[in-house]
Amino acid sequence: MNTLNVKKGDTVIVLSGKDKGKKGKVLSTHPAAGKVVVEGVNFATKHVKPRKQGDPSGIMKQETPIRACKVMRVCPKCDKPTRVKHQILASGEKVRVCAKCGETI
Ligand SMILES: [Zn+2]
Repeated sequence: MNTLNVKKGDTVIVLSGKDKGKKGKVLSTHPAAGKVVVEGVNFATKHVKPRKQGDPSGIMKQETPIRACKVMRVCPKCDKPTRVKHQILASGEKVRVCAKCGETI
């Protein structure tokens, strides 16, 4: 199984493509496909049929997955795109550390 560089709830920045430079929260991850869904990124237009009376219908925009390698984690502490380093504490606990500011993220 692939391991993604980001996980659900992370804030990421898009590195390439039409949404380059956009920041958003990871809504879901698809490790098998190496893809992530990022809030506000890679909208696709979907035509929706109302299932029951009163449901919204017509054209809906929804985020679609993008390749995880196209996004980079944004450190919540220093607010910079960063690589995440994995560190094992003396207690044996695994933590993720910002490569820029050294804070646990
Ligand atoms: Zn940082």
